[in-house]
Amino acid sequence: MDIKLYNTLSRQKEEFEPIVNGKVGLYSCGPTVYLRASIGNFRAYLFVDLLKRSLMINGLKVKHIMNITDVGHLVGDSSDGEDKLEKTSRQTGETAWDIAKKYTDLFVKDMARLNMIAPTVLPRATEHIKQQIELVKTLEEKGFTYQTSDGIYFDTSKLADYGKLSGQKLEDKQEGARVEINAEKKNSTDFALWKFSPKYEKRQMEWESPWGIGFPGWHVECSAMSEEYLGVPFDIHTGGIDLIPVHHTNEIAQTEAARGKPLANIWMHNEFLLINGGKMSKSLGNVYSLDDLQEKGFEPLSYRYLLLGAHYRQMQNFTWAALEASQNALDKLRKIIIELPHGSEVSEGYLEKFLVHVNDDLDLPGALSILWQMLKDDQVSDEIKYATALKFDEVFGFGLSELKKAKIEISDEVHDLLELRLKARAEKNWELSDQIRDKILEHGFEVKDTADGQELNPIVG
Ligand code: AMP
Ligand code: ZN
Repeated sequence: MDIKLYNTLSRQKEEFEPIVNGKVGLYSCGPTVYLRASIGNFRAYLFVDLLKRSLMINGLKVKHIMNITDVGHLVGDSSDGEDKLEKTSRQTGETAWDIAKKYTDLFVKDMARLNMIAPTVLPRATEHIKQQIELVKTLEEKGFTYQTSDGIYFDTSKLADYGKLSGQKLEDKQEGARVEINAEKKNSTDFALWKFSPKYEKRQMEWESPWGIGFPGWHVECSAMSEEYLGVPFDIHTGGIDLIPVHHTNEIAQTEAARGKPLANIWMHNEFLLINGGKMSKSLGNVYSLDDLQEKGFEPLSYRYLLLGAHYRQMQNFTWAALEASQNALDKLRKIIIELPHGSEVSEGYLEKFLVHVNDDLDLPGALSILWQMLKDDQVSDEIKYATALKFDEVFGFGLSELKKAKIEISDEVHDLLELRLKARAEKNWELSDQIRDKILEHGFEVKDTADGQELNPIVG
């Protein structure tokens, strides 16, 4: 079946054709590890996870690279603010290196809590300084750079189609840009490729380079690391829509100027998550992490369910009521799956309906409604429902197949109780049988007597 994906670059849905048959090279801009990733950030990362799973269910093998930005991302996303990691270090007294490690570890844990498939590689900017310097050297050799008192800059006027991703013309962008602090820049859209360490100050993160001691500009790492792991061009690049006008525009400029080839064939961007209809911000105290959800009694996976309620290119509103509804729906789904007898045959008809939605630029709200439709369909046997739901879950990622494992993994104690109960029932000692049933219940399982004997169901919720 054809897979259609919306390409920000062409502003239309395109049929996806991998560069290498059967394989996909995917790059996502990852977290800047100076603070805990919020559920807003996780909208971007979960979108990639859902994209990856959608490609995989179509039989494609995905190599997924997500960078960890641990240096060079300046406050205000510009070329002249303070480094976000060094600033946090100044505020907290921890070293920039410790801060990066702390939040990278937390990020990896949060990804697992959301059942995200771990990226193939999570490369760190600080571990790819050599590749970044090489890229800047190439740009210098090709005449795209100039030096100011604080660094090496990319001259955006040298690239005829600069800004094509956002569709803004260079002149418009320059006009719209804020008043520049850096008067040495030739064009307001020019950006730093390499920044010098301040003259009388030692940075915690700095390296030697042909231009002097300093650190790479924020955009360089993505051009350098995507090339290192995926080559030029690769298939799909993702990120939040806020990255289109500057970060992704500049990634494209760097790679295309250096290599004379496109950076990536398809650019995909997720819309933002709103909180109670407004912005997420520190001052409003609504920059929620997964821990905040858990403190209110919600599982991280309920947020995964919530995100399936809107298409990734639509703004989505987060409310606690919506999260509660998602948690309830997820609980209900698990209860249904647990009750179903195992089967391995998938309903071809429903799978096809499901894939029509998935392959239409990830219409996952539509795909989710097919799941519920299938589960309610009396024409489908319970065994087929089970297998089909598990197949769909390869995309949704609720871990429905794990539920069954929990059912099978019972302790020796529960096992002995089941034997005793079987004996009691054979002896028609119903009172004892019920007492044992209550004991088993205390161990977290409900016993049902079926034609095949006793059936155990873990209690959920
Ligand atoms: P940052 O750490 O701010 O660079 O953001 C990391 C990623 O999260 C980027 O891809 C952003 O586009 C994305 N992002 C940040 N805030 C939100 C939000 N409220 N909704 C969706 N994506 C977001
Ligand atoms: Zn990037």
